[in-house]
Amino acid sequence: MKKINSLIIGQGIAGSMVAFHLQQKGLSVMVIDAGKKNTASRIAAGMFSSISGKRKTFDEAMYSKQKFAIDTFRQMEKLLGVEFLHEENIHHLFYSENEKAETLLRMHDENFSAQTELNTSSIENIKQEHGAIEIKNSGWIDCALMLDSYRNYLSASHCFSMADFKYDELEIKNEVFCYGDFEFTNIIFCEGYQKQKNPFFENENIVPCKGDMITLKYANHGNLKILKRNGCFLIPTNDETVKAGSTYLWNNDNEQLLPSGRSEIKNKVNDILSDEFEIINHQTAIRPTTKNREVIAKQHSEYKNMFMLNGLGTKGIIQAPYFANYISELIERKKIIAI
Ligand SMILES: Cc1cc2nc3c(=O)[nH]c(=O)nc-3n(C[C@H](O)[C@H](O)[C@H](O)COP(=O)(O)OP(=O)(O)OC[C@H]3O[C@@H](n4cnc5c(N)ncnc54)[C@H](O)[C@@H]3O)c2cc1C
Repeated sequence: MKKINSLIIGQGIAGSMVAFHLQQKGLSVMVIDAGKKNTASRIAAGMFSSISGKRKTFDEAMYSKQKFAIDTFRQMEKLLGVEFLHEENIHHLFYSENEKAETLLRMHDENFSAQTELNTSSIENIKQEHGAIEIKNSGWIDCALMLDSYRNYLSASHCFSMADFKYDELEIKNEVFCYGDFEFTNIIFCEGYQKQKNPFFENENIVPCKGDMITLKYANHGNLKILKRNGCFLIPTNDETVKAGSTYLWNNDNEQLLPSGRSEIKNKVNDILSDEFEIINHQTAIRPTTKNREVIAKQHSEYKNMFMLNGLGTKGIIQAPYFANYISELIERKKIIAI
């Protein structure tokens, strides 16, 4: 039996962040992931912003989580020797004079005006008839690059296993758990929407929310910025393609790729770009959301060394580092260190 401190189920953003914070505290981990390609974390746009939602609100608590997330991602970049965090303004294009007028009124709120700029640089070949504002303290994470780089790092130190975790094979002894060849003090479940199969946290409910993304080839890629208009966003990426999204189908866990998702995004992109573009990829995945939008970062009521991080919803990037650190601190405070 190999003794480790913590076994983590799932290597999406949640599981990766839990493993990273535990390792930063000097605790040994083993991460198991089924290796699915289209998970929420793998296809996510990875965007974060100081102003969010239809009503364009600034939330102080969320902003401090965002600062923590940026620090965490910078530390991870240093460890892995890759750049996946891009801090850039978002150009929010108004879709009507009404929206513009409402937004300009918000400028009287000093929190809002501190995060925005009225004088936006103009962008060629963009439909910008009602004007735009820039949202500062925003950007995006290349999620697939971050997950792959961290997976390689874990694999190189024999801390990663690609397998489907079987709940009925988990042995619960006095102060330890056993699974396969491993004996460990803590187990942390981070399975995203597939948590539905988890028999240990039956009372925690996940609302699945299906979302699609498309990837575009676009000749004027070099001139683009991060753009948002009427619920649609475009992110120019480093490989000269553009990510565009997204759709929101609540209470939907159908993983099938449907043409309706592709055409919904395509129509919205047509409202932003005045030039031709070509769709070169279309993906779909299920977000793990909760009814009250609260993240599930919990210790099991009976098994005190069993935890769950889930329900990151539409804001996985900002929320995962903060709540993963919270769980790693609970584990560290108990001073339960196997090896
Ligand atoms: C289209 C789309 C766009 C998005 N854009 C953004 C965005 O711009 N900004 C933002 O902040 N958020 C965004 N999100 C939301 C974000 O992706 C999620 O909040 C986040 O990815 C959830 O991460 P997770 O690790 O909890 O779940 P997941 O990403 O689902 O990861 C769970 C992992 O656990 C593994 N797993 C599950 N069960 C088992 C098992 N039994 N054994 C082994 N492995 C298992 C799965 O294979 C998976 O790898 C977007 C989501 C979608 C779908």
